[in-house]
Amino acid sequence: MLRKRPGVFVAGEMLDWEAPTGGYLLQAAFATGTAAGQGILEFLDG
Ligand SMILES: Cc1cc2nc3c(=O)[nH]c(=O)nc-3n(C[C@H](O)[C@H](O)[C@H](O)COP(=O)(O)OP(=O)(O)OC[C@H]3O[C@@H](n4cnc5c(N)ncnc54)[C@H](O)[C@@H]3O)c2cc1C
Repeated sequence: MLRKRPGVFVAGEMLDWEAPTGGYLLQAAFATGTAAGQGILEFLDG
């Protein structure tokens, strides 16, 4: 969730273009997508 935009969740490659993923870009995209989804559920649960 964006600190300055509560309720806005982001995921994917552009979060950190220089991330040391070692080429596992799809894995990183899926992992941040999962984290964003879990964050949304926690946010909605209050
Ligand atoms: C040719 C090629 C081969 C690759 N091979 C591999 C590989 O073998 N293994 C690997 O791990 N990675 C590979 N990658 C990298 C991998 O595809 C990307 O890192 C990954 O797709 C990034 O996912 P993402 O969801 O962050 O972004 P994207 O998949 O780029 O998704 C972004 C989405 O946002 C949409 N969008 C953009 N602007 C807006 C807007 N204003 N409003 C609404 N929607 C918008 C776009 O249409 C797009 O659907 C490859 C990349 C390329 C180009």
